[in-house]
Amino acid sequence: MPYSLKVGAIQCHILNDGLHPADGGGFFGVVPRLLWSRVIQPNADNMIPSDTRSLLIESDAGLILVDTGNGDKLRAKDRQRLGFAGRTDRLVGELRRVGYQPSDVDVVILTHLHGDHAGGATRWDTPDHTPGPVVATFPNARYLCQRLDLAEASFPNERTLATYHRENWQPLIENGQLQVVDGPQRIDVNVRTDIAPGHTAALQMVWVEHGGESLLFLGDACNWAVQLNRLAWVPAFDLFPMTSIETKRRIRQEAYERNTLLVFQHDAQVVTGRLVAGDRGPEVKPEITEEAWTDMGL
Ligand SMILES: [Zn+2]
Repeated sequence: MPYSLKVGAIQCHILNDGLHPADGGGFFGVVPRLLWSRVIQPNADNMIPSDTRSLLIESDAGLILVDTGNGDKLRAKDRQRLGFAGRTDRLVGELRRVGYQPSDVDVVILTHLHGDHAGGATRWDTPDHTPGPVVATFPNARYLCQRLDLAEASFPNERTLATYHRENWQPLIENGQLQVVDGPQRIDVNVRTDIAPGHTAALQMVWVEHGGESLLFLGDACNWAVQLNRLAWVPAFDLFPMTSIETKRRIRQEAYERNTLLVFQHDAQVVTGRLVAGDRGPEVKPEITEEAWTDMGL
């Protein structure tokens, strides 16, 4: 179910490509299960629910989409494993629910090129979602990704190989839709990106700012709200965990001082929240919440 909210006068929508099970140890790294299971209870396979949220911004520069979820090009056995069998067009369906078509999107910002963020950037050009020619899901959009991130994705190592799928971005290079950028970018007067290294070398978050209000779409700079409360709680997925801690320290201070609305991309319980003073420093006070494991009818 999409959530619509305003940042100043800027209309935003939080969309979702769907919830899938993910390994709890992956999300909480060296934190003992005894501790993180108090925040989110895993199932018998030690899996926890992971959402794949996107942000849609109705900006002066046009319609901006941040991240594209897993998309529909996964192999049948992966779709089965993630609980997506028989369900297609999840993100596009959410887009339609807030009144837009894929052709309406002007800019797609890819926070990074991991499969659960960039998978929906392209699609198979077949009527029944079976394998076929790969085309842009958003045919009129300019897609933005960081040069360092594209380099990592293009030349993965043994650890990162499984999450990078060339078909998610290569067709966009070939048809001229991928704009490769270096460092923070201003998309328009109210929307900009910010580099948040740690999860990857050049992860880009997105700020929306208007009328003294601000929203920060964190991407994988902080997956779960509790990871902002406890800076040492860093996912095992992060390539540079000590850098992740410093990135979170910076984000937390700035977001606290500005009373920023934070959007969590994977947290199955806390969709949005703001930082308030807590015993150990600023901590997230949830605003929009969901029940873990429910999929909101996607
Ligand atoms: Zn990632």
